[in-house]
Amino acid sequence: MRGATVALALLLVLAGGIWLGGHPEALPGPVRNALVEEGPAVRADLIDTIQSHYYKAVSKANRARAEAVFSREATAIAGHPATVVCDTSFEHVGIVQEADGAAQVGGGVAWLLPSLCNELYQVRFKHHVQPSPKAGRAIAVLAHEAWHLHGVANEGLANCYAFQSGVRIGVDLGLSESHARALMREQLATNASDSAGNPAYVVPQGCHNGGRYDLHPRSTGFP
Ligand SMILES: [Zn+2]
Repeated sequence: MRGATVALALLLVLAGGIWLGGHPEALPGPVRNALVEEGPAVRADLIDTIQSHYYKAVSKANRARAEAVFSREATAIAGHPATVVCDTSFEHVGIVQEADGAAQVGGGVAWLLPSLCNELYQVRFKHHVQPSPKAGRAIAVLAHEAWHLHGVANEGLANCYAFQSGVRIGVDLGLSESHARALMREQLATNASDSAGNPAYVVPQGCHNGGRYDLHPRSTGFP
């Protein structure tokens, strides 16, 4: 039943080029290549395997703890109560779709790809001291979706704010401020190349220190 649902959802989104079209870089290179080159059945199997692999090892209780932490972070950015769901059901398709997250602009719920939830979980609860760039990506996506909940519809602006808010999230998850900042600077630095297939995600002009979209114009660092 679940497999069939996932397969159906994948067929729907793959047909529209939505789910993977947004941010295929969210997937590991070999998997990404396989997804591009193989047929739909193989894609569905791979996605299912990836998702269950990353998050299945975490107990239900710990997943609930993790989602409570992520929800607090989203709430702080949204400015109103927000819930983060690490979701494999694809029920969110049809709102604001991205490869790795979804949220309704001004809404109260954000969905994250379970593999990204796993990255955040590893940082917060397993105290990974050397998080990968993917952890930075996961933090940025959480912040990005939270800014949608805040009311920001523009993808590039949501990224600009997210890279800045991500520093605080990283610190809250247990990273040093300098480490969290380095991860978000890396996200900003790779934003243009990450968004090559989807220019809407490129941060706007004014997304720099002292610029129009600097959330902390009095501080010298950016993000
Ligand atoms: Zn978005």
